[in-house]
Amino acid sequence: MGLICVPVCAKTADELIQGFKKAAEYADIVELRFDYLDEKEMAVATKQVAALEFEKPLLVTFRPQEQGGAKKLSLSERVRFWESFLWQNRDNHFYTDFEYDLQLGHYIESKNRITSFHDFTGSLPDFDAVYETLLAAKGSKLKMAVAVDTITDSLPVWKMLERAKRSGKKITPIAMGEAGKWTRILGLAHGAYMTYAALDEGSETAPGQITAKEMVEVYRVKELDLNTQVYGIIGDPVSHSLSPQIHNAAFKKAGLNAVYIPLEVKDLDQFMRLMVLPSTRVVELNFHGFSVTVPHKQAIMQYLDEIDETANAIGAVNTVKIDEGKLYGYNTDADGFVKPLIDAYGDVKGAKVAVLGAGGAARACVYALKATGADVTIFARNAKKAKTLADDFGVAISKLPITNNQLLGFDILVNATPVGMKGLNENESLIDAKDLKSLKLVYDLVYSPEKTKLLADAESLSIKTLGGLEMLIYQATLQQKIWTGIEPVVEFPEKAVTKMA
Ligand code: NAP
Repeated sequence: MGLICVPVCAKTADELIQGFKKAAEYADIVELRFDYLDEKEMAVATKQVAALEFEKPLLVTFRPQEQGGAKKLSLSERVRFWESFLWQNRDNHFYTDFEYDLQLGHYIESKNRITSFHDFTGSLPDFDAVYETLLAAKGSKLKMAVAVDTITDSLPVWKMLERAKRSGKKITPIAMGEAGKWTRILGLAHGAYMTYAALDEGSETAPGQITAKEMVEVYRVKELDLNTQVYGIIGDPVSHSLSPQIHNAAFKKAGLNAVYIPLEVKDLDQFMRLMVLPSTRVVELNFHGFSVTVPHKQAIMQYLDEIDETANAIGAVNTVKIDEGKLYGYNTDADGFVKPLIDAYGDVKGAKVAVLGAGGAARACVYALKATGADVTIFARNAKKAKTLADDFGVAISKLPITNNQLLGFDILVNATPVGMKGLNENESLIDAKDLKSLKLVYDLVYSPEKTKLLADAESLSIKTLGGLEMLIYQATLQQKIWTGIEPVVEFPEKAVTKMA
């Protein structure tokens, strides 16, 4: 099995040593980035590290700025640095990482030398040529880390893993950025030499890095293998999603060899063709299912072999199951929406419900509300979308913004727009607090933050409130059941607490 490497960047020798000790908790190998140290700390840090007693191997890096390092370094500074270490006696414990660099390569003829190539520009290189160059540098291990904008751009770097395996070479292939996160999570299972993980949230040394704690405890990267069933969330964006926390915890509890990963997909067609559909895909990642979120819930439908009745009626799929090469579509949003509502409100038959929005979530809500016999009015800014929704489900429509007293006589208000969401329209609400006063329940599908402005306004008027987290969790339990066939144990995700803070 490959190694989890945790880089430590520090300005002082003491912080570097402390960082090493902390990183060792989850790391198999700790990378010390000497290029981050203050100049005056270099000598003492070099001495302390050389004398350090440690159980975990150490990877030493001293990168100049042009190779992704923290500062400008002249050749003579770099030569002095490498000469100052006492490598010979610690060979098994010391690793070094050199960018392909003829000027310096000969300094460390260690069997643990990694020869690396980094490209942070997003302009994809000629991968085969880079591979040849790295081989020529005679390092015993190779590393390629390339920034990508779209998920399918990760494929050429991933392909280098197959090439290296064929010729018995060890390689660490990394697609950097949110779209390349899957390469970090699945790499070790597919034979990558290392995967890199951040010491803490906020101390990432490259885009898309996941914390070491999450890599081990949430994604269980060291337990994954080629038989691991891979599930994931397809959408754009997906970095905010709590679904990996929820589903991975459920898989772990059930003792299943399965993992759930974020899949930032901008171009759905390319993703489906090159990474999913059995007849056209160029990689075998053992996908068994997906959650589907904005903006792909409708577009995904054209790629599926069968779609169940509820998803067809709603006109959107949020769950895909892959079984023996066939793709099946479902929608768990409607049931996920209605259960917490009935738990909080009771029977909604005959209740007057105002739904804000006419997108995918609004469609699922309206479908579920109609099925329970509620009296629904859609309030939306896009008249065309609202009319289609109203025609499809036989409900009333009204235009946004809501003006004075328009909500009088309504029992329930549902926000099915992203307004109020963290990082988007946080601290905003589509409704003036004074217009809420006649309502009995306000339900906001937004789950981050837990208490949106809309919910805070409702609470201040002593109106019952419901946030989006219960729906998220309940629809996830339904997804688990579709995928695995077993009654899942889905719990409140630990991460929710920090994500919502
Ligand atoms: P969507 O398909 O993109 O639809 C969003 C809807 O909101 C559209 O009707 C859009 O109108 C409207 N909208 C956006 N900004 C608006 C604004 N400033 N003023 C008025 N209307 C606005 O997204 P979705 O899938 O329906 O998701 C909507 C929200 O529900 C998201 O925040 C999502 O996170 C949440 N959600 C939560 C759960 C859960 O489990 N808790 C599940 C699904 C969705 P236009 O068409 O005019 O842009």
